[in-house]
Amino acid sequence: MATIIDNLSGAAAARAARHPEKQKRPDAPVLRKPEWIRVRAPVGADYAATRKIVKDNNLVTVCEEAGCPNIGECWAQKHATFMILGDTCTRACSFCNVKTGLPGPLDADEPRRIAEAVAAMALEHVVVTSVDRDDLTDGGAQHFVDVINAIRAVSPKTSIEILTPDFLRKAGAAERVIDAKPDVFNHNLETVPRLYLSIRPGARYFHSLRLLERVKERDPSQFTKSGLMVGLGETKEEVMQVMDDMRSAGVDFLTIGQYLQPTRKHAAVDRFVTPEEFKAYETIARAKGFLMVSASPLTRSSYHAGDDFVRLRAAREAELARR
Ligand code: SF4
Repeated sequence: MATIIDNLSGAAAARAARHPEKQKRPDAPVLRKPEWIRVRAPVGADYAATRKIVKDNNLVTVCEEAGCPNIGECWAQKHATFMILGDTCTRACSFCNVKTGLPGPLDADEPRRIAEAVAAMALEHVVVTSVDRDDLTDGGAQHFVDVINAIRAVSPKTSIEILTPDFLRKAGAAERVIDAKPDVFNHNLETVPRLYLSIRPGARYFHSLRLLERVKERDPSQFTKSGLMVGLGETKEEVMQVMDDMRSAGVDFLTIGQYLQPTRKHAAVDRFVTPEEFKAYETIARAKGFLMVSASPLTRSSYHAGDDFVRLRAAREAELARR
């Protein structure tokens, strides 16, 4: 009889269960965070109220699943980003903390519960994202449409921002989602093309870029938004090239934030980009013509998304008035 000794600690075992495909990788070194990355611990009545609504409606948030450093601040302001299509992703990107594996069946009641949570939180702006669902014929496109329609039915004044997967090899899927008319269509390029193989191996840079372009071609009234993580080993010139690519695809809003390593099994942080460098990226991006730019160490796609949407709309109106 063989005795198996499980010497993983509780926390390590939980991490291993979330990322089984990464467990054979050697541990990546962990850099000490600089003082500008420190965040407040999540506490307070408003934080607890947001948490209760999320739990009562049995919803998944990317705030928790991705281990977002801004959760204390965002949830205290009743701002959470809902993650639909389950909590398990079919890709295994080396930067991402979302659980990977084979997802369960679609939850047909999820659109209703998301809509109820949006109403309960009286959200003026909501951000909805999802895991990748390569196992579904439409990549989960119809479920996005159902969620958008459910929110519109209950909260017609709430602006809707979606942050979608790339719908790679899912013919017609992106078009279906575009036609549901979200206010903001966000798809993150995440990093520069040279790093795709190590950071986003299941994705293709030019496919993602083309997805953003297709949104603008099909519905120019929709705002498009995309994000980059920095600190992964990219050069400034590569970041500027991606900015140019995004502008060629008509992207309106660029977000740039510091990559943070979720566990030792994830891609290592190459370096911490300073707040001054973020400021310089913002200045360059504005000069390149983005309507809105958010660039700071803690910027995430959905960070301050409601306030930024108001500014985005105002920026477009100002630009139209200048023409
Ligand atoms: S930045 Fe986005 S993902 Fe992070 S806590 Fe705020 S809403 Fe959630």
